[in-house]
Amino acid sequence: MDPKQFLTQIVQTFKQFVLKYYPKDHLYIAGSMAALFLLLLIIPGEDKGPAVPNQTTRIPIPVTLDEPGSEPSSSLNLADYVVTAEAPAEINLWQNVEIKSGDNLSAIFTKVGLSDQDLFRVLNSSEEAKILNRVYPGYQLDFLIPDEGELEQLRVLKSPLEGYLFTRENNDYLVQEIIKEAQIHQAFKVGEISDSLFMAGQREQIPAVHLMEMANIFGGVIDFILDPRMGDQFSILYNEQFLDGQFIGNGEILATRFVNQGRVFTAVRYINEEGEVGYYSPDGESMRKAFLRNPLDVFRISSNFNPRRRHPILNTIRAHKGTDYAAPTGTPIRATSDGRVTRASRYGSFGNLVIIQHAGGFETKYAHLSRFANGIGRGDRVRQGEVIGYVGSTGGATGPHLHYEFLVNGVHQNPRTILDKLPTAVSIEAAEMDRFRDQIAPLLRQFEELNDSRLLSLNQQSAD
Ligand SMILES: [Zn+2]
Repeated sequence: MDPKQFLTQIVQTFKQFVLKYYPKDHLYIAGSMAALFLLLLIIPGEDKGPAVPNQTTRIPIPVTLDEPGSEPSSSLNLADYVVTAEAPAEINLWQNVEIKSGDNLSAIFTKVGLSDQDLFRVLNSSEEAKILNRVYPGYQLDFLIPDEGELEQLRVLKSPLEGYLFTRENNDYLVQEIIKEAQIHQAFKVGEISDSLFMAGQREQIPAVHLMEMANIFGGVIDFILDPRMGDQFSILYNEQFLDGQFIGNGEILATRFVNQGRVFTAVRYINEEGEVGYYSPDGESMRKAFLRNPLDVFRISSNFNPRRRHPILNTIRAHKGTDYAAPTGTPIRATSDGRVTRASRYGSFGNLVIIQHAGGFETKYAHLSRFANGIGRGDRVRQGEVIGYVGSTGGATGPHLHYEFLVNGVHQNPRTILDKLPTAVSIEAAEMDRFRDQIAPLLRQFEELNDSRLLSLNQQSAD
């Protein structure tokens, strides 16, 4: 898998994750992540990105956050848009070009033997044809040019599942939307921790995106930095997408389990009547908690993880009533809950310090940061999981680490124990329980059977 595909998958998964967890008011995070990602792809090339000569209006980067279940306006299946060839040899007439950063349409048309005039003709054939002004790196363009210089069909694919087909009709081009449905297959993976979660995932060839997603699902109940122990086990049931028998991408997690030091955590996907996706225990308790169990982005740490060494994270609860997470400089630090920033500045031996005030008399402090995240300042509202700064060793720190404090009504508390005493978060309403049980029952049954078949040790006490 090339790095771009890998990154795309990560962004997709992150987007799905955000949509799942923050169905309504957090959409903008997903949008900005996707936009940011697109920008990253485009920026290294020409400043203007792929553009058509003389085209002055730039259309904003399209970030589509499709509603689940929304119907495509028109759709084609594969048979409709692959030119039905008399002889198989004709298929070879398709020329495929993947748009790279810095490419422009004019150059691409030239490459396949077409002129600027041809491009102009396609672009001006209809209002819909203007979608060609919004092509971005990663898109695929397929040209069918049966006779030299005669563009018969042009396929613009945003992804293997989505795009447009231009078909010549006299001197114009008819534009049709291509929406294909992937075949969904389910995959089930089991892992056991002997060194780190990430090594365990790698051994079992579990996509990194799913490990990250699992860590996010359980982020309110397990501290994936301090809690995992050798012998911990986990399992993930997730969707994979195929098109014409070919793997095209990972889908969402349907159910997952983590057995941490004998405590069993199970999360199943549930879609409520509003179409919002969330993860719940089989009893209907939301996996999303008021606070994340740890403030570091575990996934990013893994990229620096050296399998020959022990886990890089150390922990001490010191006399000063904070938790110290040793981590490489630059590791992203996340707000553990929604709140308002009351300080983001240097403060004596704390070095660069962020303080966040949360509802209900809670306060969290994050010290020794190398720097603050862009746009984080006093008075700003932050969301749970939002990156607020980066690990460093400013102030009195002897080495790079995050000093994390958790206060309740001004009194220091050990976040590792106080969180267990907090009331549990939003769960399924009593009136919705029947709907919930009906929906998750078949999934849960399947998941249990798979777990049993893989001998995941479940003979331990359930952690309720
Ligand atoms: Zn400390």
